[in-house]
Amino acid sequence: MDFIDKRYKRIIYVNHCLLNQNTRGPGAAFREAASNELIQIFLKNDLNIEQLPCLEIIGAGGVSRKSLDTFLPLLSNSIENGWFPLIKPLIKVRLYRYQWLCKKTALKIVSEMNDFLNAGYVITGIIGMNDSATCGVTKSLDFMEVIRRIAIERNSAITLKKIIKDALIDDRSYFMGSIMSELKKRRMDIKVVGFEPWNDSQENQAKRIAKKLNLIV
Ligand code: SF4
Repeated sequence: MDFIDKRYKRIIYVNHCLLNQNTRGPGAAFREAASNELIQIFLKNDLNIEQLPCLEIIGAGGVSRKSLDTFLPLLSNSIENGWFPLIKPLIKVRLYRYQWLCKKTALKIVSEMNDFLNAGYVITGIIGMNDSATCGVTKSLDFMEVIRRIAIERNSAITLKKIIKDALIDDRSYFMGSIMSELKKRRMDIKVVGFEPWNDSQENQAKRIAKKLNLIV
């Protein structure tokens, strides 16, 4: 359907927690609220902002990650008493189910992106979080290691930030990795950039992303 209205047909896709810090796992927020510096740049460039879903909220028991709460005592117990290898297959099954959820959601989102492109819209980029097993772009997390460390160190003063930094690996993430594979499969040329929440100032991170996406700062 042809029409004329006021819209700018440019869209940027952003990870959920960049717009709502409350969706970060307990202990993992890296600032107080939405990523103001980045949003200001988007607005300055007249971009429409699409928020990607937070798969951890959907697949790991909501904002409080309740499924981890029920799981961690069992895990600590198994590590303390030396029967961790016995429950490893159970963790793998749960991870497999989570990966499947991520893949299914990624396919749906890439189809939506494709619809925008076919209708003449421009997708300026996709921004992921380079500290997440779910949303990392060039980095992922050794999820097993994170779970193991949380279970062992849950009563110590060690922060989740330290555990995350120690467990960062160069690997494909579950959700963003699936989005990127699907884009490649469909030959959709959209830039995907990773936000590094623990490196540098928020302002510098926003400028780095802007530069990669050719946005005015
Ligand atoms: S990185 Fe992804 S999964 Fe983690 S809190 Fe942000 S949106 Fe949710």
